[in-house]
Amino acid sequence: MSNVSPADQNPPRTLSSVVNCLSDYDPDALPVADAQAIIRQLIQPINAVEKIALRSALGRVLALDIVSPINVPSHDNSAMDGYALHGSELNPKADLSLKIIGTAYAGRAYDGKVGSGECVRIMTGAVMPGGCDTVIPQEFVRDASDAGMTIPAGAVKLGDNRRLQGEDLKAGTPALQKGKILSPADLGLLASLGIGEVPVQRRLRVAFFSTGDELRSIGETLDEGCVYDSNRYTLYGMLIRLGCDVVDMGVIKDDPDVLEAAFRTACENADAIITSGGVSVGEADYTKQMMAQLGDVGFWKIGMRPGRPMAFGKIASNGKEAYLFGLPGNPVAVMVTFYFLARQALLHMMGASAVAAPPLLRVVSQAAIRKRPGRTEYQRGILSRNSDGIQEVRITGSQGSGVLRSMSEANCMVVLEHDRAEVKAGELVDVILFEGLI
Ligand code: AMP
Ligand code: MG
Repeated sequence: MSNVSPADQNPPRTLSSVVNCLSDYDPDALPVADAQAIIRQLIQPINAVEKIALRSALGRVLALDIVSPINVPSHDNSAMDGYALHGSELNPKADLSLKIIGTAYAGRAYDGKVGSGECVRIMTGAVMPGGCDTVIPQEFVRDASDAGMTIPAGAVKLGDNRRLQGEDLKAGTPALQKGKILSPADLGLLASLGIGEVPVQRRLRVAFFSTGDELRSIGETLDEGCVYDSNRYTLYGMLIRLGCDVVDMGVIKDDPDVLEAAFRTACENADAIITSGGVSVGEADYTKQMMAQLGDVGFWKIGMRPGRPMAFGKIASNGKEAYLFGLPGNPVAVMVTFYFLARQALLHMMGASAVAAPPLLRVVSQAAIRKRPGRTEYQRGILSRNSDGIQEVRITGSQGSGVLRSMSEANCMVVLEHDRAEVKAGELVDVILFEGLI
């Protein structure tokens, strides 16, 4: 099943038309916020819907609003194990003794009438017997026997411990909105509505490859001066976490014909292409040349560290188009540019509505951090609690953009804003956690 939304009927934007609207666009000194804004304006969601089984929908983007077909819960029911009674009989100043006339079990309603001076023993989740509106938890009563019990004065008020029909969701009201990335709670919510199949956006297809003649794949001999290609593995991990279908195209040699064929294959088979390496200034290879030849691509020097050089745009081949993210080659720079420039764009393409950056926490920096104004710095940090119970962050050793260990050891990224200078020990800094409750 596939449908096309009105968004697709807008004339396609080009990178040049987007950047022409910016008064001070300088590709050689582009602040992170401007790069993010340009990318956001160019990217269009894919809008293709498929229906899948509820369990398979975890982490997928909901494609249509879900309206609750039923009341949840479907009846008033008890929130506690105890006794159901008529709240109007309670007197805050006097004890109340009631006769027990039966039991209401969860899933097995008590259908008798409950008269004045009477109550029904009730289990959590059992439908409230006719007329009863209040439950006294069993641990609050006195002198309980099979025949009766006594409620101490003031132990409970009318309406206590009763869950109302539809209090979780009322029939006909929106339960989940289109664009939501489905969480474990959402799966449970959909199950509570009896919905077994969910309309989701199709997965985004992302092709990626590494460029650089010094790169070797795992299993190959590491010749002198060569390094193993690690970027394809970090990219694989980050893309899979986002819920993308990935096409790993390997290491592409610095040869114009081979590069052209790789870009064309990627473009014809994927919605987005991510490359790493070959976009630095003065880079002597054909990567940039081929990107420019096949599309509308900007080559940027972004005011960020790590990750200064980056290419972004759209390329075309045989009538097919794909967005292109040409990330730098350094292993940490790849991750930082992916997280702060590509990630949001990919989420937007996937049709996700809440594509705001992950929340920033403001915490104390344990030590001084060197920082120059005029660029956003993304340092790798370890967030922990000090002996006073205060959250503080320290930087993970060497912050070189090739030192992947700094990323692996970190549990957060310290984001030092564009205009900020040197951080003194004890000052507050922003951090983004790598992991949450997932
Ligand atoms: P480049 O952006 O191509 O100038 O690359 C910058 C640095 O990153 C160089 O030291 C490269 O060897 C290294 N590099 C580039 N691509 C990769 C990769 N896929 N895996 C590991 N290191 C890489
Ligand atoms: Mg290179």
